[in-house]
Amino acid sequence: MIRISKLASSVQPSATLAAAGRARQLKAQGVHVFDFSLGEPDFLTPAHIREAAVAAMNKGQTHYTPTNGTPEVRAAIARFYQKSHGITYSPEQILVSNGAKHSIHNALASTVGPGDEVIIPAPYWVSYSDLVTMTGASYVLIPTRLEDGFKMKPADLRAAITPRSRMLMLNSPSNPTGAVYTRAELEAIADVVLETGLAVLSDEIYEQLIYGDAKGTCFATLRPGLADRTLTISGVSKTYAMTGWRIGWAAGPLPVIKAMGNVQSQETSCPCSVSQAAAIAALDGDQSCVEEMRVEFQARRDLVCGLLAKLPGVKSFVPDGAFYAFFDVSSHFGRMLGGKEITDSASFCLAALDSAQVNVVPGAAFGAEGYVRLSYATSREQIRGGLDRLERFLR
Ligand code: PMP
Ligand code: GLU
Repeated sequence: MIRISKLASSVQPSATLAAAGRARQLKAQGVHVFDFSLGEPDFLTPAHIREAAVAAMNKGQTHYTPTNGTPEVRAAIARFYQKSHGITYSPEQILVSNGAKHSIHNALASTVGPGDEVIIPAPYWVSYSDLVTMTGASYVLIPTRLEDGFKMKPADLRAAITPRSRMLMLNSPSNPTGAVYTRAELEAIADVVLETGLAVLSDEIYEQLIYGDAKGTCFATLRPGLADRTLTISGVSKTYAMTGWRIGWAAGPLPVIKAMGNVQSQETSCPCSVSQAAAIAALDGDQSCVEEMRVEFQARRDLVCGLLAKLPGVKSFVPDGAFYAFFDVSSHFGRMLGGKEITDSASFCLAALDSAQVNVVPGAAFGAEGYVRLSYATSREQIRGGLDRLERFLR
């Protein structure tokens, strides 16, 4: 018998990917599922990006590349930060990985370990906690409230810091809440960071998916000296509808990026050559595709918020970014729905899937029992149909 390691035993399957898998199974059985589980744009990757990948393949770019990514893709990422945020990262300060999830793994594996604490404001993206656990470090959650727009206050951060605290993980716009911190709110957090000497992993993957007056902010730029203690994480998955291409990156202080590159060289050699060529086309090409998708997401957000307001016993919040709605369903706990007793967010989601064929993800997976997450990266028709079903189910 082969024994399962302590590391693997400590890791749960990703709840978002598991929820998507359940819907896939039902769909294979011919059931129509209103699937709001997975956070991935439903649009086709724009044509000029796909064409760049085909051209790269035909030119023979089908081999290993430098471990940290080609000089060309790292230069394109550096140009993006210079142009969008006025921050200078040299290409050597950028590591391209197989998706931003991989970038986060590389970052945590290279900076924290047993005995260290990583601070995570909750609700948080499902993978953060397990990625921390895999390093042997522990995580400390700072709960936030819907009434505060799911934002952490500087005083809450200060109170969570112990002599073992090493890193703070930030995610604005947030998965799962869609909350976007203002520049002033992030500056106040930056001041605590600078005072206390924490490092920051700032996951800015949704920075271009923002609505209304909200703005994406690059945390590393907020105060002098902050870039020396910040790892900026992002990628092309969400902005350019490129989830399957697996390209993400980290930008930060040279010694940390070098250490992360060593880890990556032993684990995966390099990111996919063809996808790197596609990412260059995405970053350097016409950006009107990004605006078109953003406008559609904003219209879907408005549609979802209007429909959620009509659901009985549901408390919701208007998200300023990303493509998720995160709402409180705890008033339904203790009820019988679809022949089953609803006791928590997991039983709520199972009953909604079984009885209404609506697939949403339990808040418990994001560190917020009582809530569920709905991804509106799906068509308006699905949104209308699914929320109508959910309304009838709850009534
Ligand atoms: N960070 C957040 C907050 C996310 O929601 C995702 C979505 N998968 C990622 C990182 C990772 O994205 P990817 O690995 O596809 O680049
Ligand atoms: N980040 C997306 C989500 O939260 C994709 C799935 C995943 O990688 O967890 O649904």
